Amino acid sequence: MPRVATEYSCPSCKAQGRRSQIVAEDSKIVCTANSSHVWVDVMEFKKLGPVMEFNGPAPMIAQQTARSTMQVTLPLAVHEKLKTRYAGRLDVTVAGFIEMIAEGEPIVVPQSDVKRMGKLLKQEPSSAAELFGLVFSATQDRDIAQLDAKIATDKLETYEQGKPGWVALDLSEVWEQAESRAQDSNEPVDFWAQKNLINGVKENWF
Ligand SMILES: [Zn+2]
Repeated sequence: MPRVATEYSCPSCKAQGRRSQIVAEDSKIVCTANSSHVWVDVMEFKKLGPVMEFNGPAPMIAQQTARSTMQVTLPLAVHEKLKTRYAGRLDVTVAGFIEMIAEGEPIVVPQSDVKRMGKLLKQEPSSAAELFGLVFSATQDRDIAQLDAKIATDKLETYEQGKPGWVALDLSEVWEQAESRAQDSNEPVDFWAQKNLINGVKENWF
């Protein structure tokens, strides 16, 4: 932090009948005449009742980062649209955006892609933070589903290995017919399928 002159005179010097200016430097309040007259706490300094007797810029206030003006040429219609959309806060909004692109390489997501993401994520993100949250939640769901699938596969393998003579059947191709036939026989599908398969083998149906 640069050295900033203040309007205060040093209360310690004043007590000894001298008049020295106070400056703010590196978050400290320092006397220009005696460097051992130093305070880190503004309240402690104020308690000593310092007197403002110097001319100077407003003291003790953190200076704003140096600002610069940049001229941008853009289509009139776009400028008008921006003025309407960001009425009263256009400068701040654009400055914030420029700061962001100066810092790194952010990606800009057009409205059409936001809508497409909304369809996939079941909710349209309204900010980068929200998008992150939605993606995080979706990946969690995926991880859980993968884990469920793995557990089911492991279970099935253990089941088959543990009981010689047992097999698992994939009836998805004929599921509706199988379900309907089992219902006709008033039996659960697995029972119905097993019974018929056993009969088929015994009676040479295949
Ligand atoms: Zn002093």
